[in-house]
Amino acid sequence: MLLERYRAFLPMTERTPMLTLNEGNTPLVAAPRLAAELGVRELFLKYEGLNPTGSFKDRGMVMAVAKAIEAGASSIICASTGNTSASAAAYAARAGIEAIVVVPAGKIALGKLAQAMMYGARLLVIEGNFDQALTTVCELSDRFPVTLVNSVNPHRLEGQTTAAYEICDTLGGAPDALCLPVGNAGNISAYWMGFKRYADAGKSSTCPKMLGFQAAGAAPIVHGHPVEHPETVATAIRIGNPASWKLAVAARDESGGLIDAVTDEQIIAAWRDLARLEGVFCEPASAAGVAGLRMLIEQGRTERDARYVAVITGHGLKDPGLAVEQFAKPEPVAADMASIVKWLGW
Ligand SMILES: *Cc1c(COP(=O)(O)O)cnc(C)c1O
Repeated sequence: MLLERYRAFLPMTERTPMLTLNEGNTPLVAAPRLAAELGVRELFLKYEGLNPTGSFKDRGMVMAVAKAIEAGASSIICASTGNTSASAAAYAARAGIEAIVVVPAGKIALGKLAQAMMYGARLLVIEGNFDQALTTVCELSDRFPVTLVNSVNPHRLEGQTTAAYEICDTLGGAPDALCLPVGNAGNISAYWMGFKRYADAGKSSTCPKMLGFQAAGAAPIVHGHPVEHPETVATAIRIGNPASWKLAVAARDESGGLIDAVTDEQIIAAWRDLARLEGVFCEPASAAGVAGLRMLIEQGRTERDARYVAVITGHGLKDPGLAVEQFAKPEPVAADMASIVKWLGW
């Protein structure tokens, strides 16, 4: 019940409905084997894949949908690379209102598509990319009585600040640095708002450096200009013109952090390491923070003797196809003990 637990830090009024799917309160998993492999003193994983629809998007969506209902809306709309639509569809279902989700053709992980469909959203697949989908829904919400719940809706970022509060509450203060993927750049902006707000309220004594990572083929903030045809296996961050660009740059600069790019190869290596070394299976985009931390350590650009938190933004079962493709298809073995023992090499 995020809206209740962090009520004092959220734009709540007496009339805001207490919408919930028990989002938030996600585990901060210690990652000692991965920390040793990367060569840092301490690493925790904020496992946002354990939210109700499998990504951190639920934090912002519960707030945005609650505020939409408070304002009398009966319909919400969003553009999405998948997780925003899954979350919007779930909270709309929960609240008994309509959700319309606009996604780019062919670039949505199957699990996310299944969620939007099952939760009963109206699914509009457009022949275009995410950035075009976002332009479309912005115009629709200007012209028609439907509430936009992309992260240009300020309530989304407000809800997402709660992850920063949880990290501080669990650790008894902020970590030295926070590593996370950057796509539409709402999350890095929200974390920074949250850490600053918690420090101002005396709930933590420091703020972390914000270390954000885009995919090399979709790195507009790193290059300083929009990318017309963003490409990466990490579909959740396949975005060429982030909505929260300015806020993300401010978060980077005010925190003394950075926003850099990691290649798909680096992302996939970190993705496998998270699963194999720590038992945390995330979607590819979610591994960008760990991939970036590894790169910074290797290049001597960040301290080893520090406490890091990496945000693991979404669940691995969202996109199982890509996971299975990494491996050779297992050949069936005859179901007799001799064949099985032989296969095991024992
Ligand atoms: C949305 C999303 C991101 C990117 O977050 P932004 O706020 O768009 O920067 C990263 N990973 C996953 C799994 C996501 O769903």
